[in-house]
Amino acid sequence: METQHVIIIGAGPGGLSTALQLKRYGILPLIFEKDQVGGLLNNANLVENYPGFPKGIPGPALVKLFIDQLQNHSIPIVNEKVEVLQFRKENFQVRTDRQEYHSNILVIASGTKPRRFTDIKIPKEIQGQVFYQVYPLLHLSGKRIAIVGAGDAAFDYALNLARGNEIEILNRGEQVSCLPLLWERAKQSPRIHYHPGTKISTLHPTIDKSISLECQTPAGKVVFEVDLLVGAIGREPQLDFISGQFSKKAIQLENSGDLYYVGDVINGLYRQTAIAVGNGILTAMKIYNHLQESNL
Ligand SMILES: Cc1cc2nc3c(=O)[nH]c(=O)nc-3n(C[C@H](O)[C@H](O)[C@H](O)COP(=O)(O)OP(=O)(O)OC[C@H]3O[C@@H](n4cnc5c(N)ncnc54)[C@H](O)[C@@H]3O)c2cc1C
Repeated sequence: METQHVIIIGAGPGGLSTALQLKRYGILPLIFEKDQVGGLLNNANLVENYPGFPKGIPGPALVKLFIDQLQNHSIPIVNEKVEVLQFRKENFQVRTDRQEYHSNILVIASGTKPRRFTDIKIPKEIQGQVFYQVYPLLHLSGKRIAIVGAGDAAFDYALNLARGNEIEILNRGEQVSCLPLLWERAKQSPRIHYHPGTKISTLHPTIDKSISLECQTPAGKVVFEVDLLVGAIGREPQLDFISGQFSKKAIQLENSGDLYYVGDVINGLYRQTAIAVGNGILTAMKIYNHLQESNL
């Protein structure tokens, strides 16, 4: 198996910008993507804080531009899921769902994964109607959709889906924690209905294949009948492919300039496209310097 200079895990804004900057140095990385190129950005209703778009731009439209840019620079994406990562004999070994690859340098730009519902049992029959991202639903209209959460993602999802659907936002607490502008926009939408203090206690399928959500509310038990349920109850770093053994070596590999983390996977609460893109450019510059210094 040929050893690559650089492997990047994840083709979201962070991984893509790392690849673009590396290509400017004449280094063609191998980028792995398990799902949708553009990552989480595919869900964003309107990106208003990415410079260059005075009126803002929908997430999928920005992703389309990223993909065009990638194609113009002939950077291919490998549609494989990285399952196991190891470091052996001075090389990274990246095992995907299809085969194994090796590299000298590794960039982890794998973003975040959603926190899933753990306090409610989801019957098998309706598991296919429960989502944690909205991009697969953006073509739908005429549906009734419950979104659980009270942060930016919950309200952004609601605004995105409310173009053609009726939305019930269920917040088990009393406070919202989203940007004030998202809250104001949601309040103005006749299709978005917000329910504070509303906690799902049980859910079950109905005869017509809807989901019946039985909720505890300050006014007592309330039942919502919806077609789909979307969870927006937080996210955590996506690092499932890292074993305990690899973690032990990780700091040493970072210090030696062989391992890098880019974007949301490492940015804690500071998860924004421009930050991930900046991280990616910076990382590619560091990699270039490292390769020059080590004559690789
Ligand atoms: C609803 C919503 C609205 C948003 N609005 C804005 C906004 O207005 N402005 C803004 O700046 N940001 C916004 N964001 C945040 C923005 O989308 C993220 O900050 C950005 O996408 C992070 O990029 P990333 O590359 O670090 O991670 P991600 O976009 O999460 O990309 C990581 C990629 O890695 C892939 N991956 C993970 N594990 C593996 C594996 N094992 N093998 C192969 N591939 C893997 C994933 O499938 C994913 O495509 C929003 C996010 C959401 C959810």
